[in-house]
Amino acid sequence: MCGIVGIVDAGGVSHSLYYALFALQHRGQESAGISTWDGSSFYKYKGMGLVSEVFSEQNLKELKGHVGVGHVRYPTTGANLPENTQPFNFRFQDHHFAIAYNGNLVNAADLRTEFELQGEIFSTTTDTEVVASTIVDEFRRSGKIEEAIIHCMHVLRGSYSVILMLDGIIYAFRDPVGIKPLCIGTTEKGFMVASESVAIDTLGGTLIRDVQPGELFRITEKGFEAMQIAVADRRAHCIFEYIYFARADSVIEGKLVYDIRRKIGASLYDEAPVKADLVSPVPDSGTSVAVGFAHHSGIPYLEALMKNRYTGRTFIKPSREERERAVRLKLNPIIGHIKGKKVVLVDDSIVRGTTSRRIVGMMKESGAAEVHVRIGSPQIIAPCYLGVDMPTREELIASTRPVDEVKDSIAATSLHHVSLEALVKAIGIDRENLCTGCLTGKYPLSIEGESCLSRNIDFVIGSYQAKLGSFPPDKTAA
Ligand code: AMP
Repeated sequence: MCGIVGIVDAGGVSHSLYYALFALQHRGQESAGISTWDGSSFYKYKGMGLVSEVFSEQNLKELKGHVGVGHVRYPTTGANLPENTQPFNFRFQDHHFAIAYNGNLVNAADLRTEFELQGEIFSTTTDTEVVASTIVDEFRRSGKIEEAIIHCMHVLRGSYSVILMLDGIIYAFRDPVGIKPLCIGTTEKGFMVASESVAIDTLGGTLIRDVQPGELFRITEKGFEAMQIAVADRRAHCIFEYIYFARADSVIEGKLVYDIRRKIGASLYDEAPVKADLVSPVPDSGTSVAVGFAHHSGIPYLEALMKNRYTGRTFIKPSREERERAVRLKLNPIIGHIKGKKVVLVDDSIVRGTTSRRIVGMMKESGAAEVHVRIGSPQIIAPCYLGVDMPTREELIASTRPVDEVKDSIAATSLHHVSLEALVKAIGIDRENLCTGCLTGKYPLSIEGESCLSRNIDFVIGSYQAKLGSFPPDKTAA
């Protein structure tokens, strides 16, 4: 997971990066960092915790310069260690590099071993450092960063959206099948790239478009240009971004995620209609799906649960007991809305089943007559190797149990998951161009011990290059 941002602007960028990271905080809460460049010197600051905990006014002031990158981390590969915080900063032959990375490599261990056999040392356990070594390996030979990134695209296997700052120039690129999101937009006086468009909104900028799979952007003080350097025969956008991970107010591939989730809610009613007194979301992840369900069914939308917004994410608590307590702390049932009522509860997904079991329990304790659970994703049956923090098959409640057993296990009156067909239709991208690994156990890349859905991805290195925008930003560019 993780959230990344890069900005080139006319004035100082540290505050803009800070606010952009705030907008991306949902993508990672473990650590945050910013690196900047003022034309001659490099500045960096990072630490463990939320964006608001890591930065102070003083250290934002000290992050000087008009170019910078930022990162919020949610660990997928690499332990919860201070040295794994990003951006990953290093010097090579008097060049200053900062890398912010989102994704997960399936061949990181092999690449690391190859480098180690050549005598290279690593100071973190992250994939990011492997990306850095791969880039430097080629940069050392050719002295050309574009060539190094092309080399990277040949060598890396997995998901990667990367923002690299090299001596004050921003390079942003996305893996050839576009698993993790990345988009480009304007700021008031410059340009930015970010994981999600909400970061651009927050800075008052305008979304230009998504960075295309296999595309490389180069952003300087003069403007930006794009190069399509890899063309795959399919795409594999992460379906879980649409289900849960992206913010509902983000626009991905030209579509507002909120609207996609509302459509999912409408399909949930069509697929499993129910007579009930109210439709309530499990806040906040189920909200837009519940809105769609309520509008489509005509059943009143009324919240049965209030969320305490100051508790952090329950998922990141390590033990099951701790997670269960955290759910109780996080959500309070509104008994007056529930007692004697037939309630439809809508959430985005069931992973281990802890949340649903606890919440259905709360509804029953609050006197609900019936609790119908509707879920905005098909059953999650398989782990993710491409960047979403998902537990193992053994921990996934649906990996070995049919829906009926899960329904009994969470003690719901009824349970329905939206079908993959309806989900894909709501997203509006062909199924072959989505990564559905967690829902089908079939992955778009070959992964040891797992089945691969499609032909191998071949990509060709194209040479098209386009000048797309220049300063001051043309808001209609591209
Ligand atoms: P569980 O209690 O394990 O079934 O978790 C399900 C809840 O966690 C759902 O309500 C989701 O909103 C949320 N969720 C699903 N996947 C993730 C993830 N990868 N990281 C954090 N939260 C998640």
